[in-house]
Amino acid sequence: MKEQIKTLARDYAADLIANRRHLHANPELSFNEFKTAQFVAEQLKAIGLTPQEGVANTGLVALIEGRAGRSSESRVVGLRADMDALPIHEANDVPYKSTVEGVMHACGHDVHTSSLLGTARILQQLRDQFEGTVKLVFQPAEEKAPGGASLMIKDGVLENPAPASMLGQHVAPNVPVGKIGFREGMYMASTDELYLTVIGKGGHGAMPDQLIDPVLIASHIIVALQQIISRNRKPANPSVLSFGRFIADGVTNVIPNEVKIEGTFRCMDEEWREDGLRRMKKMAEGMAEAMGAVCEFTVVRGYPFLKNHPELTRRMRSAATEYMGAENVVNLDLWMAGEDFAFYSQVVDSCFYRLGTRNEERGIISGVHTPTFDIDESALEIGAGLMSWLALEELRVKN
Ligand SMILES: [Zn+2]
Ligand SMILES: [Zn+2]
Repeated sequence: MKEQIKTLARDYAADLIANRRHLHANPELSFNEFKTAQFVAEQLKAIGLTPQEGVANTGLVALIEGRAGRSSESRVVGLRADMDALPIHEANDVPYKSTVEGVMHACGHDVHTSSLLGTARILQQLRDQFEGTVKLVFQPAEEKAPGGASLMIKDGVLENPAPASMLGQHVAPNVPVGKIGFREGMYMASTDELYLTVIGKGGHGAMPDQLIDPVLIASHIIVALQQIISRNRKPANPSVLSFGRFIADGVTNVIPNEVKIEGTFRCMDEEWREDGLRRMKKMAEGMAEAMGAVCEFTVVRGYPFLKNHPELTRRMRSAATEYMGAENVVNLDLWMAGEDFAFYSQVVDSCFYRLGTRNEERGIISGVHTPTFDIDESALEIGAGLMSWLALEELRVKN
């Protein structure tokens, strides 16, 4: 079976690249993946599948039934690709350069979509040789709150039939092409946005006794909030608190009425996330009050943290080792970035792994979310083949 999958992936490699280039040249922003969804639907129909369209508006779901058809005992594995692009203007000079001003597939979601279409084609071809059901999930808006994954779940993507596990892959510009990365347990962070307004009383900088200085109070608050991260967090629990915006719009001798602060809080524990946010709000409001000011503390909730189910991930790692060779399977570090695949991982056993796309010799080294991001396209054949192999491995597990 492994060799059969490898052969099919090789046969389809040119189509995978053509599909990726088509998607890359025609990127669409989060929640606007209309042409992309249409393209995916056409491709799925062309191989004999009947996609359910319009899930979470622009998402699609399709089933590949194995040999025995679907029964109550048969296992279901979910495979996920995201389809949206970013508001970045592409700086690469390539034949498949984005044709849309200011929009670019700079996070590789064109790769994920094309790769999953390839996986669909391979598994559809092999459907007489496995038992169980493969659920293909093409979701919108990974890049934008509230995240396409959360809306797909609301629209029932994890029911009828319910996948026993979900697999997702993401390009990795820091991992050489030909290699795959795994990490069991905590992998990516929850992402909450913090918006604080410290309201005091502005006036002439020469008369601070007449005023309530929001600049000094906000500065104290920033320092105190970092103290929550260093003193109240369990040391084993990774967390980041970063403030990138601090606007005190006075001048040398004018203290403003208010200061605006914006930042991000990231961690890998849902309980600590709640506790940390509660403590930060209390600290900020309490300190402002103690100094005669008012602090409005607003949290815009992002994605939860992404946990890779340890046992499932170990199984996938060993299956990948069989497919790729041990020398091509690498360990991933914790990453404090967010990813909406985390929503699936909170409710169903999940494994999110990385597909190496770096090629230093060819200068393909730019990070995701940069205008020069690109991939070594030989990763597509690996991505589509490996995901097929992992899905079948997962279907072999007994319920
Ligand atoms: Zn991204
Ligand atoms: Zn991404």
